[in-house]
Amino acid sequence: MTAYAFPTGTILGYPRIGRRRELKRAVEAFWAGSIDADELEQRSFELRAATRERLAELGLGRDDSSIPESFSYYDQVLDAAVAVGAVPERFRHLLADDGSVDLATYFTIARGVGDDAPLEMTKWFDSNYHYLVPEVGPDTDFSLHAERILGEFAEARAAGFLTRPVVVGPVTFLLLAKPADGAPEGFRPIDRLADLVPVYVELLEELAEAGAEWVQLDEPALVSESIDEPRDRVIDAIGVAYDALGAAGPRPAIFVAAPYGALDDALPALAATPVEAIGFDLVRGSLPEQLDPATSESLAAKTLVAGVVDGHNIWRGDLAAAFERAEALRALSGAVAVSSSTSLLHVPHDVDDETELDARLVSWLAFADQKVAQLAVLARGLAEGRAAIEEELAAASAALADRSAAPGVRVPTVRERLAALADGDFSRAAYAERVAAQEALALPELPTTTIGSFPQTTDIRRARAGLLNGSLSDDEYRTLMREEIERVVRLQEEIGLDVLVHGEPERNDMVQYFAELLDGFAVTKHGWVQSYGSRCTRPSILWGDVSRPAPMTVEWSTYAQSLTEKPVKGMLTGPVTILAWSFVRDDQPLGDTARQVALALRDEIADLEGAGIRVIQVDEPALRELLPLKRRDQPAYLDWSVGSFRLATGGAASATQVHTHLCYSEFGVVIDAIRNLDADVTSIEAARSRMEVVDDLATSGFDHGIGPGVYDIHSPRVPSAAEVQALLERAVAEIPASRLWVNPDCGLKTRGYAETVASLEHILEATRAVRARL
Ligand code: GLN
Ligand code: ZN
Repeated sequence: MTAYAFPTGTILGYPRIGRRRELKRAVEAFWAGSIDADELEQRSFELRAATRERLAELGLGRDDSSIPESFSYYDQVLDAAVAVGAVPERFRHLLADDGSVDLATYFTIARGVGDDAPLEMTKWFDSNYHYLVPEVGPDTDFSLHAERILGEFAEARAAGFLTRPVVVGPVTFLLLAKPADGAPEGFRPIDRLADLVPVYVELLEELAEAGAEWVQLDEPALVSESIDEPRDRVIDAIGVAYDALGAAGPRPAIFVAAPYGALDDALPALAATPVEAIGFDLVRGSLPEQLDPATSESLAAKTLVAGVVDGHNIWRGDLAAAFERAEALRALSGAVAVSSSTSLLHVPHDVDDETELDARLVSWLAFADQKVAQLAVLARGLAEGRAAIEEELAAASAALADRSAAPGVRVPTVRERLAALADGDFSRAAYAERVAAQEALALPELPTTTIGSFPQTTDIRRARAGLLNGSLSDDEYRTLMREEIERVVRLQEEIGLDVLVHGEPERNDMVQYFAELLDGFAVTKHGWVQSYGSRCTRPSILWGDVSRPAPMTVEWSTYAQSLTEKPVKGMLTGPVTILAWSFVRDDQPLGDTARQVALALRDEIADLEGAGIRVIQVDEPALRELLPLKRRDQPAYLDWSVGSFRLATGGAASATQVHTHLCYSEFGVVIDAIRNLDADVTSIEAARSRMEVVDDLATSGFDHGIGPGVYDIHSPRVPSAAEVQALLERAVAEIPASRLWVNPDCGLKTRGYAETVASLEHILEATRAVRARL
């Protein structure tokens, strides 16, 4: 086949939500019915056009396949499912006669309708992005529906661009899929690889006909050891898929991108296939020191795409080191290019939009646009020699040096405190001793509580906005929040809950709230990144040593406690979650940063105790999601993550009841870690999975307090008292009543009041019924 040259500099993908979240607005307007499909198409067309122009302006070529077509209305995995015809049975009646999916149907598959549940959503590798899980069964009738992929490529051509279509690769697609409803026991989606590959072959042929010179097939599943499939099956699949795709013809040249880690033992298999280019994540991984002769020989004939600019983080980084890492690949192949390590989907658009951020901090940062510009520089260096880019490399090194010496980055008092930590700081008294001391709380059997937040009403949001734009004074805002807290406390008393919460009305977000109050963090204005679909988050930037200038939550918790005789839970976000949902400094081990955050929380806990708070919850919903993809990296992670939680809570008195909350119920390898947190009470999600988790808990030796959720807060549905009671009975059968708590799956902030009150009342009714017969 004709050998097209791979562009010397590229990115694996670009944020698609828009600089001012234009796509979010358009999609949500379409959902609300205020714009029609044509208008949505038009606005997204304009967004794609502006993106291509911007990328060209930043230095990517217009006509050399260096600009990726990585747009999606909702999710790239859903796009792949639609493109290969893998639409679950329950949605098939919505398809057009030719089997195609219109926009309304596309969103219905993503979001569900009536009793037809949407595709399940789960985390994309070790990022905070969530994808939709395809459903593939023995009868899934794969067929190509490439209208969108071809349409976007053609629309680019019409505007004078030769771009590079990006599609999730066939191996990753099937590895991420789950068996469709009704699939026989033992069926695995990857069993269908031989049936799926012809659809990709057809796609490549159509792309070639449309004039595409390169196509990018994303295969991140090849780097992950958290894929539930034997590794040799994964490796076999590579050959099956890419030998067949390579034999297609005529076809574009194939670039297989493997972001999020090293390919490891998948490399020889991939190298042995006829793909023309392979993308390596050289930020997270590296190539093996030694390659077998066959692999060396195969790689020598391919373009090696060095993912040296971090797509995961917002630091400007060490550009000279990145250049050297790319140059080192020249020892393996004459054809070397540079790219981002992952799609830039995980970072905000443009740091130049952050006019209110400290200029010195800005000079250390690179958002998506700055990273594209960096790649253009590195590409020039590869083409013309290092001398051509010496100035840019030096500027990046100077920024790095400035950063390491800047005030706040290394704060001696923080470092001394960390250095002085002893083992004892990570442990509390024995559990039995704590249980005895906590009897003073005088809780009934099966104590009831909630996870922390109550519904965030429009009034609350309006008050927060008012404080921000100056239309509300600090005092006025505080008064409104106190009124809200009082309402929430009274409501909980009326319902009859045992351990109350203040309801978190003052929190915009469970991480940003703390980031705004801690030293070492900065908050952006436009730094939104897509979390899933139209949902975006604005991670804070953890840039320096972390410390706590003043108490953060004491005022609210003590006010709530002053209103009631019942215990009010203090509510904090744990160190791992604060790290997971922020952009974290990359100049020291994560564990060091986590321990700094932990010490700030430890001080907060001491202040809460001092102010009379007797129950304190430290949320760690992200504990599992930061788990490294490679097994070899997991023990060290579990060590520092669990350690930081224990450091945060280790100073709590025996009489203080420490709770934690985790938002999931598939514990797998983290079950030991959860036990090691040594919280007095752990609340988890369980209602959605009908309490399946209690069996695991019962057999895992977990012997502290546990609150498996009895109310699925992800849906507006109100569970009946009988339904809650059935869940509770199931829990009581497995877990001694003395250790069992009753609570919802998660916080109530996204719910309305009507369903919240009704559901909590049913929970209390069910609890009373179960208590009565214990
Ligand atoms: N305390 C938080 C809340 O109730 C916990 C949220 C979470 O686990 N994601 O909202
Ligand atoms: Zn939760």
